[in-house]
Amino acid sequence: MASSHVFGRDTRRSLPVIAGGDGCWLIDAEGKRYLDASGGAAVSCLGHSCRPVLDAAKAQLDAIAYAHTGFFTSEPAEALADALIARAPEPLNRVYFVSGGSEAVEAAIKLARQYFLEIGQPERTEIISRWQSYHGNTLGALATGGNRWRRAQFEPLLADAMHHISPCHYWRWGEANESAEQYGQRVAEELEARILQIGPERVAAFFAEPVVGATMGAVPPAPGYFQRIREICDRYGVLLILDEVMCGSGRTGTFFAFEQDDIVPDMVCIAKGLGAGIQPIGAMICSSVIYGAIAAGSGFFQHGHTYMGHPTGCATALAVLGEIDRRNLLGNVREMGERLDAGLRRRFSDVPFIGDIRGRGLFRGLELVADPDTKAPFDPALGVAARIKAAGMARGLACYPMGGTIDGRTGDHVLLAPPYIVSADEVDIIVDRLGEAIVSVLSETDA
Ligand code: PLP
Repeated sequence: MASSHVFGRDTRRSLPVIAGGDGCWLIDAEGKRYLDASGGAAVSCLGHSCRPVLDAAKAQLDAIAYAHTGFFTSEPAEALADALIARAPEPLNRVYFVSGGSEAVEAAIKLARQYFLEIGQPERTEIISRWQSYHGNTLGALATGGNRWRRAQFEPLLADAMHHISPCHYWRWGEANESAEQYGQRVAEELEARILQIGPERVAAFFAEPVVGATMGAVPPAPGYFQRIREICDRYGVLLILDEVMCGSGRTGTFFAFEQDDIVPDMVCIAKGLGAGIQPIGAMICSSVIYGAIAAGSGFFQHGHTYMGHPTGCATALAVLGEIDRRNLLGNVREMGERLDAGLRRRFSDVPFIGDIRGRGLFRGLELVADPDTKAPFDPALGVAARIKAAGMARGLACYPMGGTIDGRTGDHVLLAPPYIVSADEVDIIVDRLGEAIVSVLSETDA
């Protein structure tokens, strides 16, 4: 679109124009249909024509679209908070509504800081997170995140209070003769070492994605990793904050991803699937202990946004939760997730350049390697991930490939996150079309 005035993501690219949606399918202005195998960036979890949710959003628009949370609460916000807390294990029991993932992470960072001020530990200013995680693009969330490529040009603006330890990705970094469990314990110990190095009395929080999404490609933790992380946080009074913006809201087959790791965080951030792309909404959920400290102290969380607790966003998300329950979609996420995993393994069994297939539920990743023996990545100059995305789109498949899997610069993966309503036939189409797209790119790649 040469005459466009939209400041798009990439000034060098022109994109098809979206015109409609039909279940798991996206339809462009020319009438071409694309099977949505990633829900954008793991957002559109109910597809693109979910009537009950669209109707709920419209009904809220007719009742009252918006009222500022400094003046009013709203029925949808109250009901959505109740519904989320009904799903959350204790002691999680208060919900702070925002408009997206980065805002949820910013709220968690600031609440962690304020909590320690309220309880008389003002020296706790430092935050630890992991390399190769992504927590958002606003400056606080970006500083917390560990994607070197996304951080690089803004480095002078990123807070020194943020520290990073290794990610947990056994297939890539586990040593020979080391079990997944042993590896998980080893990298978890890095948290304790870093806390001791900084000074335990200075550390406020540890941030992590339970299943690492956009920057590593659906990497679940090693068994026992998060239990050890929880113990370390408890020992030093450090808050454990989980970022489930991408992997939460049912994506992995349980409403919260952390349920599968047998831990409960002090705060959890969700967004994306919560509003299913029908309205922008995110949430930070915190424990009664943290909320209680604010309530018993200043009584005022020094934060806020104009659109927080937006009634139309909350009504939409409430209807999303209703659809997930009514249609037992978490069951479908688990069942179709297994089918997708099995299909990918079958399809790529004789493609040595697919080094790893992993994930949980309908959150799956494939990592590409130029050399299957050494796991060496393709030369980033080949742009393998971008070419797979284009080859997929040409075949009517929207998936989410990304480069920089290993260190922000090298490595390529493909992330799959189809809607929770995906059918068995559609899963098979994803596998077929992705197979064709990857094989076509590899066949023209002189690696
Ligand atoms: N956290 C995680 C784990 C994410 O994957 C993302 C977005 O991809 C964010 C935070 C930021 O969310 P948003 O883009 O809605 O601000």
